[in-house]
Amino acid sequence: MSKDYYKTLGIEKKASAEEVKKAFRVLAHKHHPDKAGGDEAKFKEINEAYQVLGDVEKRQKYDQFGSAAFSAGGGPAYGWDGSQGFPGGGFGGFQQGGVNFDFGDIGDLGDMFGNAFGFGGGRSRGPARGRDLQTDLTLTFEESVFGVSKDIVLNRTEACEHCGGVGAEPGTKMKSCEVCGGAGYQTRVQRTILGVIQTKVACQACDGEGEVPEKRCSVCNGSGLQKNKKTLTVDVPSGVESGNTLRLHGQGEAVKGGQSGDLYIRLRVHPDSRFERLGENILSVISISFSKAALGGTVDVETVDGKVELKIPPGTQSASEFRLRGKGVQVRGRRGDHIVTVKVVTPKNLSKKQKQMLEELDLE
Ligand SMILES: [Zn+2]
Ligand SMILES: [Zn+2]
Repeated sequence: MSKDYYKTLGIEKKASAEEVKKAFRVLAHKHHPDKAGGDEAKFKEINEAYQVLGDVEKRQKYDQFGSAAFSAGGGPAYGWDGSQGFPGGGFGGFQQGGVNFDFGDIGDLGDMFGNAFGFGGGRSRGPARGRDLQTDLTLTFEESVFGVSKDIVLNRTEACEHCGGVGAEPGTKMKSCEVCGGAGYQTRVQRTILGVIQTKVACQACDGEGEVPEKRCSVCNGSGLQKNKKTLTVDVPSGVESGNTLRLHGQGEAVKGGQSGDLYIRLRVHPDSRFERLGENILSVISISFSKAALGGTVDVETVDGKVELKIPPGTQSASEFRLRGKGVQVRGRRGDHIVTVKVVTPKNLSKKQKQMLEELDLE
């Protein structure tokens, strides 16, 4: 049941470390389960192969003993602890010996590579980033046309006000972490039939920072974070439509020692029975009497700017369109038009006299 890891990655036995890495990147991109057409089983295989071939020591052992030496399925579990080289916590991808993967926490390919190429210890993962938040905001038709300032209330994690997000009680000094001796990581030693394997894991006592406050913040107990109810005033630009999303940088959840996430506001425009939107134009329909259509006259039309008098020329046909310039949607400082469709109402239930008159009209 030996697996050919070289075949899995589509490379030759004499491939260089660079070629191994490149082959893995290409294949992992192609089969990543979060992508359309991704293949989780294949992706795991590729990863398993790379966990071994991407590491000089493991590759040597593999060349000597084959993949059986790396199977995490039976016998003593001595798969590679995926946490090596990802100090700082927050990783969720490669926890279980390179075979059992949990994709739930892998946000995107960037994250994935951040994990997979984090071998060798050190702070390779970059600063942490807070979670993004999403909320909905409903606008009236007029608000979507002209833009509006709106207050929204968020329940979000923010930096602790008492300690400024540091986690230390103000006024206290930092001291070297006793658990890891200031290194920020701990070395885990595992004895296996192939010898001793050392892995580096982020120190949990100091979050991989190497130092801890002499006294933890009394408000957040050292987490540097607190839940807050926050009211934000959002400036919605003019011309937005249902389904548009606004992104506010840094208004998502805070995280200790990193950048806050973003806030996504999904907009919904409440329908207005009087108006319809078509790009930068607004459409509406008005009904006029048969006689007004025939003889001409004026009619009041509702627009987003209030009532406007529209001149109906004599002999207007049903379904004729009239354009009210500059009464449409404001897009990038410019107003579209309001287009009125006229519907001529043919009279019903005519009196005897009215019928007679129409018959006379018809004879001419
Ligand atoms: Zn520590
Ligand atoms: Zn605090």
